[in-house]
Amino acid sequence: MKRDLLQSYKEELAQLEARSNLRTLPEVVHRGRDVIRQGRRMLNLSSNDYLGLASELSLRKTFLESLTPERFLPSSSSSRLLTGNFEANGALEELLCRLYEAESCLVFNSGYHMNTGILPAVGNAKTLILADRLVHASLIDGIRLSPAKFIRYRHNNYEHLESLLHHNHADYERIIIVTESIFSMDGDEADLRRLVALKKSYPNVMLYVDEAHAVGVRGGKGLGYAEEQGCIADIDFLAGTFGKALASVGGYVLCRRVMRNFLVNKMRTLIFTTALPPVNLMWTHFVLERLEGFDNRRDVLKKMSLRLREGLIAKGYACPSGSHIVPVMTGGSREAVLKAEELQREGFYLLPVRPPTVPEGTSRIRISLTASVRAEEVEHLVSLL
Ligand SMILES: *Cc1c(COP(=O)(O)O)cnc(C)c1O
Repeated sequence: MKRDLLQSYKEELAQLEARSNLRTLPEVVHRGRDVIRQGRRMLNLSSNDYLGLASELSLRKTFLESLTPERFLPSSSSSRLLTGNFEANGALEELLCRLYEAESCLVFNSGYHMNTGILPAVGNAKTLILADRLVHASLIDGIRLSPAKFIRYRHNNYEHLESLLHHNHADYERIIIVTESIFSMDGDEADLRRLVALKKSYPNVMLYVDEAHAVGVRGGKGLGYAEEQGCIADIDFLAGTFGKALASVGGYVLCRRVMRNFLVNKMRTLIFTTALPPVNLMWTHFVLERLEGFDNRRDVLKKMSLRLREGLIAKGYACPSGSHIVPVMTGGSREAVLKAEELQREGFYLLPVRPPTVPEGTSRIRISLTASVRAEEVEHLVSLL
């Protein structure tokens, strides 16, 4: 009998389905801040368009006016190391350096490329990586690809981190602490100042901070949580993405010049991929130039976030979040799926977040607010929870 080579895959999918952990690609149609799915129009509270810039038509109109067929380049046709390093790359990196007052900067195709590329390049067998237990999957993948040794510290538990530093620092050439600034699933913040102080108490420790969910949203100029905490210059790898609040695509790291030169030579996810199309880099540039001016949107987002978190706490929910990302814990996956369906019927496009994205037993509805949400919508949502 011929063996069915697909049988084990089918079984695994069936098991996922039985545990309410099966994923499919949702088909959605976008209408400004709303989405339409299966004929139902809902307010989108599941995107990372935190400032509402991606759904803002007037910005795109202004940008399009600056384009001509000659300037509209939809492909770079090559890696940056060959012929893909267009002017738009340099211009964007220059702008980032100016905004952050940083020595050097490097732009990548995505945050995923960034996080899976930097750590394998900079970590060797004499390196120890100490990562927060809840860092994003892309960082975990980067750590797995790195020859460095790796220990996770308990989430935001700096006593644990300090003890790991104390016991290990003498055995390694260097230690790299890895954290997010705002955590993607719990919405809580790392204490960046404390991490900087910890790092500075040893001569061989570097700090890697992923600002994916904070850039655009936090800090007076929207540069992120490190700006808010006044420690941009103290972070060795200040990394972020353009795909969330900045309404574009790509990743970036601010670092020392020698580090940039090193990455250009060693980072496989930079070297062996076609560079971002110039038109995307130009759009990112266009948004970044205006970032400081979006402070009204940052204010609205902050107010709405506070309102939602206070509403949840008043209803007896535990609320770890200190940001615009607000989880509503259900525990089980099935409960999360049912709750999401109920909220969708009420007009809120919310999705269940389940293992392996979050640890087993911590399934949740992840509410991700944007600056275009209104107070009465937040009130209504709270009343449904
Ligand atoms: C989304 C995300 C990334 C990946 O960024 P992309 O640009 O979407 O590839 C990296 N890190 C964190 C913390 C993220 O949330």
